[in-house]
Amino acid sequence: QENTPLLDVRSVTMAFGGIVAVRDLSFTVTKGEILALMGPNGAGKTTTFNLIAGALLPTSGQIFFDGRDITQTKPDARCKAGIARTFQITQPFDELTVVENVMVATMPYHSSMSQMRKDARRYVQMVGLAERADVMAKGLSTGQRKRLELARAMATRPKLLLMDEVTGGVDQKSIPGLLDLVKSLRDEGQTLIIIEHNMRVINELSDRAIFMNRGARMVEGTPHEVAGHPQVVDLYLGEG
Ligand code: ATP
Repeated sequence: QENTPLLDVRSVTMAFGGIVAVRDLSFTVTKGEILALMGPNGAGKTTTFNLIAGALLPTSGQIFFDGRDITQTKPDARCKAGIARTFQITQPFDELTVVENVMVATMPYHSSMSQMRKDARRYVQMVGLAERADVMAKGLSTGQRKRLELARAMATRPKLLLMDEVTGGVDQKSIPGLLDLVKSLRDEGQTLIIIEHNMRVINELSDRAIFMNRGARMVEGTPHEVAGHPQVVDLYLGEG
């Protein structure tokens, strides 16, 4: 259905004992959209990803994906349903090669190793790691690890891709290439939620931004509107 959002987060709260990491958070993401999650450290962005991916079950509230209630669904089932994520701290299998790492992600789609390998090479190529395809993941730079992680997430053919700070901790010269990669995903209609601090990156990539503070949504709008919002300006200046 045209009007059904791909992701529908409804009044979700996540409390860890006395700490409320996410507070009564509601938002939707429609197909093909890129949503940026912003906010200072501890705002609840990563917890929100964990809730969407199923690594955490909310204290209250509901999450709908592709028209189905996935609130209590296990992470592997959510992955099968089409939710993939990358992590702020990348976590490939260090002792596997780049291609082998991606092969693991393509497994559900193929019955033979040669098919898996061929498919994996395609994603490795796509993220610009072709010349590193057969080196072990532990030999990669941070930027290359981010690319590998993207390839692994893309290889699961997700309907929704959650990307945690794709440009974070990456050397300056790798950033344009990573941005181009995300733009090419966007141009193919990939739906994305990105956690991002860099305002330039948010402006370039996202259709809409949600600024979180202390677990709650504080401001929502176009990147331009959010960046110019007095409370957002205050918090960012406050952070230095
Ligand atoms: P950052 O940019 O630093 O990653 P964030 O916006 O992603 O910040 P979260 O990591 O979601 O923020 O954390 C939100 C709050 O929840 C923080 O106060 C954090 O200490 C707390 N928190 C997160 N996970 C847990 C946990 N497993 N147990 C207890 N508290 C937690």
